[in-house]
Amino acid sequence: MNISELNTRFNTQEKCIAYLEWIRWDGIPVCPYCEHSDHIVKRREGYRYLCNNCNRSFSVFIDTVFEDTNLPLRYWFQIIMLMINSKTGISSCELHRQVGVTQKTAWFNAMKVRCAMLDQAEFLEGILEMDEAYLTGKQRHPRTKIPDNEPRLSRVQSKRGRGTQKVPVVGIVSRDSGEVATKVIEKLTSRNLLAMFRQYVKEDSGRSILITDEFASYKKFDEIVEHLTIEHQKEFSRGIINTNMIEGFWSLLKNGIRGNFRVISKKYLPFYLAEYSYKYNKRKQSDYGFDEVIDNAVEDEKCMVNYKPAGDVKKICYPKKKRKE
Ligand SMILES: [Zn+2]
Repeated sequence: MNISELNTRFNTQEKCIAYLEWIRWDGIPVCPYCEHSDHIVKRREGYRYLCNNCNRSFSVFIDTVFEDTNLPLRYWFQIIMLMINSKTGISSCELHRQVGVTQKTAWFNAMKVRCAMLDQAEFLEGILEMDEAYLTGKQRHPRTKIPDNEPRLSRVQSKRGRGTQKVPVVGIVSRDSGEVATKVIEKLTSRNLLAMFRQYVKEDSGRSILITDEFASYKKFDEIVEHLTIEHQKEFSRGIINTNMIEGFWSLLKNGIRGNFRVISKKYLPFYLAEYSYKYNKRKQSDYGFDEVIDNAVEDEKCMVNYKPAGDVKKICYPKKKRKE
């Protein structure tokens, strides 16, 4: 999706709604309250429908990230397009300048779009690389001399890599499909790492090979998968045994965050991770995953509630509402 295509396809609200209806219902409206698709009539005014089974009126916006929005959909689509087209990320200030909405609106809407990007690679297989990175938090320049009277914590914080106070993020990338799955894992124990591995890797494939560095928590992987390690203290690559692909993703992620957002709080880190992983996974598609973002955005259960990082996500996204019986 590019600007000219977007301007021709989605220049009016009607066209945008028709597109949403096509993505969500495939042309046949389904009542979100009773889930019937028969006895539904279109109301005269605009885009609303009346369900004669439960006698309620509804529109395509119900239970989606676009519910209750006052912003015309073409602005939403512009935000989505700008977000997926910018490889290294785009800040809310930049969105405000490009689209013409306020910075606050841009921030909230971008967060909701990030929720719709929680479409991670579910089944990775083949040659896999697994590694962790440490993100967010202030970094002291390594050459800065720490005064003797400073508390110990700041000495720890200035450390890089394992043992820092930063938030650990673990990633698995498949060299075959070129897809990545990422997750914030606060404690890098074997158990947590194995749980993540089982979540994203096709277990019965039997032909997966995992490459990691020599970190002790990866030792247990020997029992479940063919596991090769590279000792980063000695060398970075030995033939095909390296973790260069996942390192490449970390560099993209870290540079993107540093260049666009400076610092991200721990609370919102999973949203940004979702965005970068999504864009990385869809980078070879012609529309960079535009249709799939919309598809996830109108599919409520996928959007947000299942994936709740620490903090009040309700303020950012719409959780599924409990309806009165
Ligand atoms: Zn109904």
